[in-house]
Amino acid sequence: MCLICDRIEMIKNGTNPYFVKELETGYVVIGDHQHFYGYSLFLYKNHDKTELFQLDKAERSKFMEEMSIVAEATSNAFHPEKMNYELLGMGDAHLHWHLYPRRAGDIENCGNNGVGPVWCYSFEKMYDDANRPSPEELEQMKDKLRTELEKLL
Ligand SMILES: [Zn+2]
Repeated sequence: MCLICDRIEMIKNGTNPYFVKELETGYVVIGDHQHFYGYSLFLYKNHDKTELFQLDKAERSKFMEEMSIVAEATSNAFHPEKMNYELLGMGDAHLHWHLYPRRAGDIENCGNNGVGPVWCYSFEKMYDDANRPSPEELEQMKDKLRTELEKLL
């Protein structure tokens, strides 16, 4: 079992507190840690394919289109300077987009004098428990993101 399949199972059971909305190809969730305020993910529904190029053309187009809508809604909800889109998978091969709202100074002076991907930043700081939203903050974030998503769908 993979972590993302576990989280999807929780969504289906109604026990995933980060769940925002189900789309055709995936699930929208708020990230566990919010150093990058508004950090959201779009989780592909299945684990049967683990590379974008393995999806048939129509499915791939839909997955990309929906990811882009989630990114736009995240931007509208949380007002970053720029969105970052990342599909990695060495930790969990399950197809999932990390959608990072970025703001100047958010990785301090890591990377190239403060310019670089989120992964330049200290994992200790990024995943500090202090960056976990409170239950009230999480509800507010989910409401904001869901409202913006519904405007675009
Ligand atoms: Zn999985």
